[in-house]
Amino acid sequence: MKTIAVIGAGTMGNGIAHVFAQNGFQVHLIDTQESALQKALATIDKNLDRQIAKNTITQEQKIKTLLAITTYQNIEDGVTAANMVIEAATENVEIKKSIFKAMDTFAPPDCILATNTSSISITELGAVTQRPEKVIGMHFMNPVPVMKLVEIIHSKHTLPEVTQTIVSLTEQLGKVPCVVKDFPGFISNRILMPMINEAIIALSEGVSDVATIDQIMKLGMAHPMGPLQLADYIGLDVCRNILIILQEGFNNIKYAPSPLLVKMVEEGKLGVKSGEGFYKYGAV
Ligand code: NAD
Repeated sequence: MKTIAVIGAGTMGNGIAHVFAQNGFQVHLIDTQESALQKALATIDKNLDRQIAKNTITQEQKIKTLLAITTYQNIEDGVTAANMVIEAATENVEIKKSIFKAMDTFAPPDCILATNTSSISITELGAVTQRPEKVIGMHFMNPVPVMKLVEIIHSKHTLPEVTQTIVSLTEQLGKVPCVVKDFPGFISNRILMPMINEAIIALSEGVSDVATIDQIMKLGMAHPMGPLQLADYIGLDVCRNILIILQEGFNNIKYAPSPLLVKMVEEGKLGVKSGEGFYKYGAV
């Protein structure tokens, strides 16, 4: 593989473009918003400077990485020469289905179509294409340049050789692939989200306060961040949406988002991105 198209230049898309470009791939970064593309390039530039400061890359590698990224505002131009496309656009099933239809129409027939979705069924996205056997989940973690894990999700239709190709590709990026089946929340969010939800339920029952709940999980379970702080970083709206997907996907009330979580989202307390969640943050 030489050329990778990345669709969506937001939080995840810029990180995915960064790691592919840094590891010798040509990257076509696609977003409908010109402002998102400019912001992504500025973020990549800043993150490469951080790597230089830590002596993990040289100035020459930085320039090479930036030169390997070309931006596009439409899918057709960006994917026609791609060996693989990874979709990292807004987490909305209708948006993703329309992107998958466009990817399928314009990408070469042998091109693998991957998605970075956190919660949407890979099978459902594959079903809108003529090549469900080449559709796969490649779930990077945030921040992408730092986090080692890539959760790889294959549907019932994904060919084993396609999964193997993505496993090898992940290793080429210096990351660790973990392969799972296509179930709601895959493994990462199926386990993480109920833990966050339970912490919020315990808080609303007055079992303890925010700082103490987080401290118990940090010191007692060796988690680098407590569940409430982590929820603030992920975004409380994102947590609520994934819990609803788990609840509906398993048809099990145990995954229902806690009333306090729902209330905070309704009040616009979304965590770091809105300036307030379980903790208060500076101006946004
Ligand atoms: P984001 O909102 O930061 O960025 C999404 C980008 O997609 C925006 O720039 C938007 O302009 C673009 N976009 C929307 N529709 C488009 C279209 N039709 N064509 C091209 N671009 C389009 O979102 P994000 O946080 O980067 O999340 C992207 C994906 O990654 C989601 O599926 C999300 O579930 C997943 N994910 C997010 C995280 C996280 O921590 N943020 C972690 C793992 C996975």
